[in-house]
Amino acid sequence: MAKCAPPVEESFLFDDMKPVVIARPDHCISRKNIDREALKVLYRLKDHGFLAYLVGGSVRDLLLGKTPKDFDIGTNARPEEIKRLFHYSRIIGKRFRLVHVYFKGGKIIEVSTFRRQSDFADREALREGIESDDIYGSPREDAFRRDLTINGLFYNIADFSIIDYVGGMDDLKAGIIRTIGEPERRFLRDPVRMMRAVRHAARTGFRIEPATWQAICTHADKIRLCAIPRVRDEWLKDLRSGASSIWAGYMIDSGLMGAVFPAFSRIMEKVGHERFRSIVTGMLKEVDLLVKKGQELSDAFYLAAFALGALHYLPQWQSLASQRVRWPTYEVRFLLDDLLMPYDFKKADRDLVSQLLSSQWPIEYCKATGRWQKRVWSKATFPEALILHNCLMRALGEAEVVVQASGGGKRPRKRRRKRGRKRSRTSKKAAVQEDGTK
Ligand code: ATP
Ligand code: MG
Repeated sequence: MAKCAPPVEESFLFDDMKPVVIARPDHCISRKNIDREALKVLYRLKDHGFLAYLVGGSVRDLLLGKTPKDFDIGTNARPEEIKRLFHYSRIIGKRFRLVHVYFKGGKIIEVSTFRRQSDFADREALREGIESDDIYGSPREDAFRRDLTINGLFYNIADFSIIDYVGGMDDLKAGIIRTIGEPERRFLRDPVRMMRAVRHAARTGFRIEPATWQAICTHADKIRLCAIPRVRDEWLKDLRSGASSIWAGYMIDSGLMGAVFPAFSRIMEKVGHERFRSIVTGMLKEVDLLVKKGQELSDAFYLAAFALGALHYLPQWQSLASQRVRWPTYEVRFLLDDLLMPYDFKKADRDLVSQLLSSQWPIEYCKATGRWQKRVWSKATFPEALILHNCLMRALGEAEVVVQASGGGKRPRKRRRKRGRKRSRTSKKAAVQEDGTK
């Protein structure tokens, strides 16, 4: 196979712009807030003569005063050199090789050698048959291959300074989400970056810089060129983020929502843009409040809440109302499959979401008749189904449901868990108390 260098993502890589270096007294990152194991890895690399930087999201979060989810490390040491320094470590990936350093308690610190271009561009090059050993790069190239300016900062363990090649520090201070490099070009190169821009705007509350926003609106449909599992993993993260309502607003306004979920644009046409936007964001706002309160919710719950907002005004959904207690699980599964096309989920997860959604109809029925039948409240999914129902009620500005168990106000008894069956993580008791049930 022909050996040539992969296409370089940005021509301005070769500008000889010097980074801005922010010395320790001029920024707020303290070693106290850096994970102990990440510090050990940084120091060992430095003590062996390598550059050792904290990179990406962890620097951003530390500067914002948040606790980072993970502490990623960038270095000029090659994977084999990193591996030699850490007894408990492993090189992962065939071509894009990272090193995982293992610590007690199962903690993993990811160390990667500075690279010339993004994972996506590397993968593309490989797919096109372009092979090269030249995937590694300078710290500067590693900064420019990243997505947003606020994600392109480095923290240097050698002198505790921040190294900024991309203007990330100014954008962090001003509260701006901006792509590194020209937005159109960067989004066309990897359209998932549009979803990442919207995510970080929602999470940080920063405003999206006009050229970046314009490029997202213009190229929203290009997200369909990305691998489906990759896009699914992105939006699933956003549903659980605690900032899902703002995220959904940006997704709808930019056109990304309709591009990611083709059924959403059809529903929006039927229901009207404003009505659709207000119910979806209103519903997710309630979910965000639960996340902020620390309520434990199953993965199925997040999906059901997202789907219920979209389904609520649909005539096909409304026609499922019944004159008796009935779980329209079959019809709901059909509507759900259409709504979440083309994304795939495990059957067990899909079933659980369908159960939560179809439980809305028996809840409606019991609410209307004022009699809470045991077969409704004794279902394993009832506590979450009721929380879901009350989220919708609050979003619509209607009264929440308070369940009066029939048969002398008996508490639902605990049911035995069937082997192998995934149970809702919220206990019945917790949901009953949440909703003020006697
Ligand atoms: P989170 O708090 O969700 O982990 P993060 O910014 O750390 O946010 P990761 O998915 O962990 O997100 O990615 C780590 C870093 O890798 C990012 O900060 C960014 O610099 C870079 N990155 C991730 N995805 C892309 C992409 N598609 N294109 C360019 N750079 C990317
Ligand atoms: Mg991260």
